[in-house]
Amino acid sequence: MARLPALFVSHGAPTEALEVDGWTRALARFGREQPKPVAIVAVSAHWVTHRAAAVTGADAPETIHDFYGFPDPLYRIQYPSPGDPGLAARIVELLQGVGFDAAVDPVRGLDHGAWSPLLQCWPLAEIPVVQVSLPALLPADLIRYGAALAPLRDEGVLLLASGGAVHNLGEVAFDDKDRAVRSWAGEFDGWVASRVAELDVPALARWKAEAPHAARAHPTTEHFDPLLVAMGARLPGDVPAVLHEGFTYGTLSMRSFALRS
Ligand code: ZN
Repeated sequence: MARLPALFVSHGAPTEALEVDGWTRALARFGREQPKPVAIVAVSAHWVTHRAAAVTGADAPETIHDFYGFPDPLYRIQYPSPGDPGLAARIVELLQGVGFDAAVDPVRGLDHGAWSPLLQCWPLAEIPVVQVSLPALLPADLIRYGAALAPLRDEGVLLLASGGAVHNLGEVAFDDKDRAVRSWAGEFDGWVASRVAELDVPALARWKAEAPHAARAHPTTEHFDPLLVAMGARLPGDVPAVLHEGFTYGTLSMRSFALRS
């Protein structure tokens, strides 16, 4: 069975689900060109757990609209992909096997960090999706978390890690999607792009200390952490491929890439 990629996707604003732009077109193209996965495992910035990792075990995970104050049509979007309880149980085993606390959550659905990119890549929602929580861990452990999921890539499973390469909501110009990129945001994003291109995972793990404007780019880490999970899921022979780069609203990086062999 062909090895499937690990993806990092910057998911941007929830309203992407109602719009067409370079990012939505890039993800749609990726979904068309990519051999169809048997299943998708998604990790999102919008499901952080502080003790055990949790794994969605529902047969039909609900679409969670975990945002406030957006236009009504956004709340009517459904992404009715099936779940995969067998895969969820296997993920719990994989995580426990390398020392993570992990358990199935039979109720939790898919948040917009998961379904917004998936809606662009596979709009028919026919591929089973299991979401895995993002544990609040230090970079080295997030990389280990990704590595624990990596074997699934050789079993027809695509790994989607969804966050944001630059994400500071206090500095997002929500009134101007096409606003010129702020220099600090561009510098941080460029540093990330270079380290990803070099597959320099140790440097990425030290991002808080080494990247320019790190604290401004990420006042909290949950949108950067999925990138570390994706990098942790790299396998020998993987090459990074940029799917999309650019900004919305002046500071919201939409950088998205695949690691594939
Ligand atoms: Zn987000």
